[in-house]
Amino acid sequence: MTRAAHQLLVVEDDAAIRQVLRVLFEGEGYRVIEAADAARAQIEARSHKPDLLVVDLGLPDVDGLSLIRQVRSWSAVPILVLSARTMEEQKIAALDAGADDYVTKPFSAAELLARVRAGLRRRLQGAQQTLVIHLGPVQVDLARRRTQGPAGEIHMTPLEYRVLECLARQIGVVVRQRVLLREAWGPGREDDARSLRVTMKNLRDKLEPDPPRPRYLLTETGLGYRLRTDDDPSSDEP
Ligand code: CA
Repeated sequence: MTRAAHQLLVVEDDAAIRQVLRVLFEGEGYRVIEAADAARAQIEARSHKPDLLVVDLGLPDVDGLSLIRQVRSWSAVPILVLSARTMEEQKIAALDAGADDYVTKPFSAAELLARVRAGLRRRLQGAQQTLVIHLGPVQVDLARRRTQGPAGEIHMTPLEYRVLECLARQIGVVVRQRVLLREAWGPGREDDARSLRVTMKNLRDKLEPDPPRPRYLLTETGLGYRLRTDDDPSSDEP
């Protein structure tokens, strides 16, 4: 399997519901991380950098709303609230705290999956993201996380996709090292220039026609990196 599946973090204290969600999401090809309380959710969110959070509002340690606010303080990850609370004010409070969408229990599987797909799409579109980029003979579909090269599908890790997504948000523009590290690795990793260099080398080995002389993934010494694509009209220079 060469596809880097999207990772969903399910934050729910009811083990039976967590299990239902895991089966449902894994059936759709997503990878699932579970957290039974807000403290665990914070740890999992920081270490795994999931692509979307499904958060129950009624948690045993802190309120789901505080969790949403805390995650929002450092991440733009889509957050889908799942809760038995049907009161309009709870729904508004969750959206005000930074949630993107809301599904009320009991939920229909089809509706929940549709909201998850919409959340994952918005994550890319909301940032004016280019969804498919062309690097010579290589085509990267960021929404589906599939990369096609001249010799077939190219396997890339979720981390490599996150770095590429961050660069693709501003094609042709220098993205600072610290920004890439925070977006792709998480807060607290901004000084880990070595990890970034290793990942950029791996990306070049996979995507560049001539990796030692990169044409698309360009280093801006002392600043960061810049993505040039064949879709970018300003990249016609030799
Ligand atoms: Ca609950």
